[in-house]
Amino acid sequence: MLDYSEQNNWENDFGQRQSPIMLSTHDSQHFADYLPIHANEFYQLNTEIDDHTTIRLTGMGHATIFNRDFKFKQVHFHAPAEHIVDGKVNPIEIHLVHENEIGQTVVVAVFPTLGNANSELQDIINNFEEGNRHSVSLKLTNWISSLSTGFHYQGSLTTPPLTEGIEWLVINNSKLTVSPKQVDWFIAQFGKNNRDCQPLNERNVQYYNK
Ligand SMILES: [Zn+2]
Repeated sequence: MLDYSEQNNWENDFGQRQSPIMLSTHDSQHFADYLPIHANEFYQLNTEIDDHTTIRLTGMGHATIFNRDFKFKQVHFHAPAEHIVDGKVNPIEIHLVHENEIGQTVVVAVFPTLGNANSELQDIINNFEEGNRHSVSLKLTNWISSLSTGFHYQGSLTTPPLTEGIEWLVINNSKLTVSPKQVDWFIAQFGKNNRDCQPLNERNVQYYNK
């Protein structure tokens, strides 16, 4: 089991392009109005995996990202958020992991804000059980809008083996909300499961915003 209090001792055989990082709208290079991502209307989540540090759900979905075809692999949750945007730590960060045929991985990160309970998330919480096959449909227009703004950069997995060569799309205008009770449930269940921000080093971050 991953111990986040020992994260400074996690073995990193990679290097200087790690995730998460601090993101700054001011210091990033402005590219275009919107992140070039278009996802299916629904992703179907089928299997729930409890690895004692988060819930992961595998399923089916499809997205076009920078004109490349990606398949949805899994979604999981971090509380509090891992990427820090303009100094702000969000209560939860959702990672939607996508992979294409030539093995490229894109993680789409979404920050819900505090507000009303998210019903799809509540469905996941209510049915939380290792290996559960209760099916949940994510209405992706809520999770990944085609008018998403945010950041694009090259980083790594945020859990061991911390593999680099991972592409990140960090969406900063999500309309998703989660309730304080839902955030508390995650923290009570898993403890804090966010990796600390890593040095940017020699990397450019692209910013997409109208
Ligand atoms: Zn993650």
